[in-house]
Amino acid sequence: MSHRRILILGGTGEGFALAAELAGREGLEVISSMAGRTPAPKVPVGAVRRGGFGGVAGLDAYLRENRISAVIDATHPFADKISRNAALACKAADVPCVHLWRPSWERQVGDDWREVASVADAADVIPAGARGVFLTTGKTELAPFAHRDDVEFIARMVAPLSDEEGLLPRPQKLSFVFDRGPFDLDAERALLREHAILLIVTKNSGGSAAYAKLEAARGLQIPVIMVRRPAAPTGELVSTVEEALDWFGAREEVLI
Ligand code: NAP
Repeated sequence: MSHRRILILGGTGEGFALAAELAGREGLEVISSMAGRTPAPKVPVGAVRRGGFGGVAGLDAYLRENRISAVIDATHPFADKISRNAALACKAADVPCVHLWRPSWERQVGDDWREVASVADAADVIPAGARGVFLTTGKTELAPFAHRDDVEFIARMVAPLSDEEGLLPRPQKLSFVFDRGPFDLDAERALLREHAILLIVTKNSGGSAAYAKLEAARGLQIPVIMVRRPAAPTGELVSTVEEALDWFGAREEVLI
């Protein structure tokens, strides 16, 4: 069997799961790519590279130079730039590519959601003078809330802001909780109560790892501002790790 090399664009639970499933297969080398913005991230099984490729041209060159046989784009649904770049670079380099596009969360009975098109819109619809606003949109999305001096925020993130990140605009009244998913329902309910959360701002990431806060919010009747996702990437889409493995399995024998 020839030697093949698969590139997993990761930074998600699915990326880790795919690397764990594919690493160790005979004749297959697995490389996971991470943006490299989170300190001390978990390390996927197999080889890992970190940092941007340098746009479409950089990724195209990487695919050719490293003789990549196939790409699974398992990045987060809101990481739309790298997904777009992957689609274009794979087309240019003639490398098969699939995007793992996990299903969105859907509103359930009892949910009090207000859907908005962007994080900036979310910042604008927070009621004046609001307290206990729980931000789960990530450390790169604090600047859009910076103008809301009237609002008291609590932001959850994986790790404290770096010195560089600390220089970026952010809201004046902001405290932090640090934790990394997956999160469970009891802990989320306790956290919402402990911090007297009255409103949640989140992106519609989908998946199970971050869903518990929405179940907790439903039970506690806490309203949610839900940021809708960007459009799905163009190209082949699957919605689960299993489907991505099937996609790869169906091509494995013919890949160079
Ligand atoms: P993005 O806006 O789509 O990408 C910005 C740039 O970062 C890309 O153009 C690329 O740089 C680089 N990049 C992104 N993901 C990369 C990867 N897996 N490997 C190598 N380079 C990557 O992405 P983002 O929203 O900042 O997300 C960055 C990473 O965090 C992704 O791996 C994503 O899966 C993960 N993540 C994102 C979110 C979120 O809410 N956005 C949530 C959880 C995890 P070049 O153009 O130089 O190649």
